[in-house]
Amino acid sequence: MIAKDSKRAPSPFEEVNQRLEEAREISGVPKEAMELLENPYREIRVEIPIYSHGHLSVYTGYRIQHNAARGPYKGGIRYHPHVDLDEVRALASLMTWKTALVNIPFGGAKGGVACDPHAMSEEELFELTNTFFTRIAMILGPNRDVPAPDMGTNAKVMGWAMAAYGRINGHTPAIVTGKPLELGGSVGREDATGKGVVIVTEQWAKASALSLEGTRVVIQGFGNVGSFAALNFAQKGARVIAVNDVKGGVKNDKGLNIPNLMEHVKATGSVVGFEGSDPLEGDEILYQECEFLVPAALGGVITGENASKIKAQVIVEAANHPVTPDGEDILVKNGVVMIPDLIANAGGVTVSYFEWAQNIQQFAWKEARIDDELHAILGKAFAQVLDYAKKYQCTYRQASFAIALDRVYRASKARGYIRV
Ligand code: GLU
Repeated sequence: MIAKDSKRAPSPFEEVNQRLEEAREISGVPKEAMELLENPYREIRVEIPIYSHGHLSVYTGYRIQHNAARGPYKGGIRYHPHVDLDEVRALASLMTWKTALVNIPFGGAKGGVACDPHAMSEEELFELTNTFFTRIAMILGPNRDVPAPDMGTNAKVMGWAMAAYGRINGHTPAIVTGKPLELGGSVGREDATGKGVVIVTEQWAKASALSLEGTRVVIQGFGNVGSFAALNFAQKGARVIAVNDVKGGVKNDKGLNIPNLMEHVKATGSVVGFEGSDPLEGDEILYQECEFLVPAALGGVITGENASKIKAQVIVEAANHPVTPDGEDILVKNGVVMIPDLIANAGGVTVSYFEWAQNIQQFAWKEARIDDELHAILGKAFAQVLDYAKKYQCTYRQASFAIALDRVYRASKARGYIRV
């Protein structure tokens, strides 16, 4: 068991386990099964030495395989300066519950390298990716563990990853998802997470007899997830009134023109200075008056310290783990609805599943099929969450964890790993 230190604030992994404990009480999964279900199966840490301009830098990379009772380990690879063992553990665990909730045949994993990809050249990133994947290749495989992009990585990095694995094992497109189309990537994968955020939000609105038309949306983060969420919200007639990125934020109460803003970001590297917008400083983005606040950046941004300042009616968790449990207690007391990460950002891994299936079939699906199947999978999963929350009088997060925990528990039991 991974030791706890009760004197300090809970770590992200401990916070995920806190949520699992709540879900256990609701779902009735036996206590005795929890040690196996909470903790990762395998954790690997590798050194990644890179030479650049004659100077040696040694980076640290992780791959954590949390649970594979329902299928191969699945989850992204993050390149970010804050990557550490505990956070990767938390994110790996979240993947187990996410794939179980949307009922796709995968388990959960996560990986990462502590580095600042924005401060590195393309050659350095290639070297880093090549060495990292070569060093973890022995625990990967299309039926074992299938990585994907996450914060700081993208299709290009996945192409390099596939090549590194292929040099050892032969051409294996199904080894990673989120690849470039030229290497067997799937249409619709790039925008899938952002699109899924909006599919789920619209479903919540319909179930609450509301419409997205004209509602105010604020998005923290304008990377892959935030920008495509913004675009999909705008296409549904919502007003995206504020967005930000690491360099700053922009606001326009009438609604920002998202396609133009995406062009501006392509040209300048940031949302800052977008024509016809007012600037927003620091954390101000979180405290705007709006119907939907969409954290789409780092984890742990809404906490016990700042949750009481939130003026949004609904928080849609496009990022993984953006609200800490003590932040959530305050939000629930204040009547803020939370659509949790497990369902809100599951569009990405769902289309990753389609990519993996296409690679194995060696047959490419049409975009319309991807779109239909994505709507079907997310729609069914969120309908189950809505019903469960009503039946057990619990939050959507508790319902999501409880449904997922029960599925993984049953699969582990069917394999004979758990006998209670
Ligand atoms: N990194 C994404 C996530 O957190 C996608 C994972 C995947 O496609 O496997 O869900």
